[in-house]
Order: sequence, then structure tokens, then C-alpha cells
Amino acid sequence: MKYCPKCGSANVRFENDQKLSCMNCGIVYFQNVAAATACIISTEQGILFVERKKEPGKGKLGIPGGFVNPREDAVQGVRRECREEIGFDPGPDVKFFASFPNIYLYKNITYHTCDFYFTISAPALELSDVRVDSEEIAGVRFIKPENIVLQDIAFDSAREALKTFLESDSYRL
Ligand SMILES: [Zn+2]
Repeated sequence: MKYCPKCGSANVRFENDQKLSCMNCGIVYFQNVAAATACIISTEQGILFVERKKEPGKGKLGIPGGFVNPREDAVQGVRRECREEIGFDPGPDVKFFASFPNIYLYKNITYHTCDFYFTISAPALELSDVRVDSEEIAGVRFIKPENIVLQDIAFDSAREALKTFLESDSYRL
């Protein structure tokens, strides 16, 4: 951050990508890490991916998910994001799988996130069961574990999560 969010002064110190101190008005502002979630959905047809329609990661593959809202817990967040993006609620039985930090650049602002990856097994889920949010997503694709190309995936943390998921042989229906 280059300017004080309160008085607009450029006389600020920004430490650790997190703590802004304004030398002019004296405020201290923490731009804390944001919590984000995503869900690896395993089906008989493969793992469910969304094709991203917008930056960041436009044209690449992603896993349904997004930022946790204020006053939401991570499970509520991941269920809501799945409902919004693909019209499918993975339900309360999602299992925490792994967590990775991520850097998310959106309209020239860098967000440091802590991404929480959940998994759910939904063997019978198919294309006709999903309703995509066409604002955000170009489509949905099911990819068998052996055909997943990690380079096609939008974010470092998602690549890392999937790599770990596939290596740990967690794809079980
Ligand atoms: Zn200030």
C-alpha cells in the first residue's frame, strides 16, 4: 500500500506486506491475510473443474471456491461458493484436506490469502446436475486424475493442492 486509507498521505510505512503505519495521521492499519476456500469434488467422471472466465487466471482451470465472507466459517464459505459457481452444494460432510498460501492479484491489488482445500466425494454428479454462474465461469469439466495437467490450473495453491491430492491417492469414490 502506498497511501494512507484514512488521510491519503503518502508518508506511510508498509511492513511485511501487512502493516501500514501513517506518519501523518498516526493510524495503524493491518491488511490481514484473507481466508479463501475451494472444494475438490470427486465424481465417477473425474474431478470437477471450472473454466475461469475472468482474470486472474482467465482461460485456465480452477476448483470451485472463493473468499470467505465476514461472519462465515470455512465450511459455510466453501458450500456457498460451490452453490454460487456451479449450483451444487457439497453439503456439511466436506472434509478438510490441506491449506496453502496464495497471492491473488485482482485489478492491480495484491491479496495474500490462506486457501483452505476441502474434498467431497459425489460419485453420481454429472454435467446436467450443475448450473454454472455464467458471469464467472465459462463451463465445467470433469477430468480423470490421470489426465490432469497441472500447468492448466490457475493458481499455485490449487496446483499444489491437486498435486498433493493426486499423490496421496485421495481420489476415492
Ligand atoms: Zn494517515
